[in-house]
Amino acid sequence: MLVARIRLLLTAILLLIPLASLWYEQETWENLVGLAVTLTAFLVALLWFWLVQQGMYRHYLGLASSLLDVTLVSLALFVFILLARPHTAVNSKVTFEAYFLAIAATCLRYDVRICMMAGLCAMGQYALIVTSASAMWDLNSPQFAPFPYGVFNWSVQVSRLILMLTATVLSTTVVFRVQRLLRLSTCDRMTGLFNRGYFDERVLAEVSRASRYHRPLTLVMMDIDHFKTFNDSHGHTAGDEALRILASVMRASFRHSDITARYGGEEFVVILPETEMAMAAEKVEKLRQSIESTRIHIPKQGVAERLTISAGLSCFPEDGTAAAQLLDAADRRLFAAKRLGRNRVVSKEGVLAS
Ligand code: GH3
Ligand code: MG
Ligand code: MG
Repeated sequence: MLVARIRLLLTAILLLIPLASLWYEQETWENLVGLAVTLTAFLVALLWFWLVQQGMYRHYLGLASSLLDVTLVSLALFVFILLARPHTAVNSKVTFEAYFLAIAATCLRYDVRICMMAGLCAMGQYALIVTSASAMWDLNSPQFAPFPYGVFNWSVQVSRLILMLTATVLSTTVVFRVQRLLRLSTCDRMTGLFNRGYFDERVLAEVSRASRYHRPLTLVMMDIDHFKTFNDSHGHTAGDEALRILASVMRASFRHSDITARYGGEEFVVILPETEMAMAAEKVEKLRQSIESTRIHIPKQGVAERLTISAGLSCFPEDGTAAAQLLDAADRRLFAAKRLGRNRVVSKEGVLAS
């Protein structure tokens, strides 16, 4: 939504360029083509904004819109080839710079692949425009004198392509760093799972998605049993290592699309979108068994310990239609699992196994 808004704002600002040129200069072909292309870009941004607002955003729309941005710039240059004004196409001063804006705008998507694809696409399209112009016309022939857009020079064209490559590398690097920061801000340093802040955000989004599309969703709350005793017997360093080991077992037990997070000290939560309670309970029960059979080596004492977990499940919409209600229900069932003796999974059907 933010990217759609910014695209709309930027294309609206860009519209000022051909309008200002039309105001100060006479109605040249360049200005009219510039106006037509920027107006198209603005209308496309408006359509995208509307699609996103209607909840019709799809993953591929991000890549599609970035590719469309660079293609619109190429289209503006290509129109001059069609109008038999090749020098305007290959020596354009304002339109060519728009490539850099389109490449820079891909940074907003936080996706390295989109940055690279849009940059390479821009380079490929521009190279095609230049080679076709030089193949179709003798660009330095006196028939084009007095060359208001300058003579044709291959070294300038190669420099332009290199500049586009540099912009692509720069945007990719920026996105790479942003992605790293994003990972750091959403992950729990010790376990590598998502952190509480990220979970709080995602649970609201996933519950509202499930509600909008009438899809099932299950929430799991887990807590390690008698972890204080483990810490007291083996020390906090061994406790930290145990948390890391159990977190990796948890990560391996759920799908990539499930959100597994560290909720608190030794409490964990999982959001399972598109999953009915029965299916989720089966998965959590398998996880409980894997954790029960995981040996945690304590090198200092030369022993191997085992830990167990208790879990409570809740599902949308049966246990509530708001995230807070679902969390409460899962928490209540986790408490029931503890009260019933720990090392068990409690779902709507009651205790699954122990
Ligand atoms: P229960 O079965 O009722 O959950 O008992 P418990 O001892 O696991 O529960 P309690 O909530 O009383 O204690 C949680 C303990 O978890 C307290 C603390 O020593 C330990 N803990 C919490 N966070 C960390 C951590 O980051 N590292 C280590 N080593 N221990 C932690
Ligand atoms: Mg606890
Ligand atoms: Mg505990």
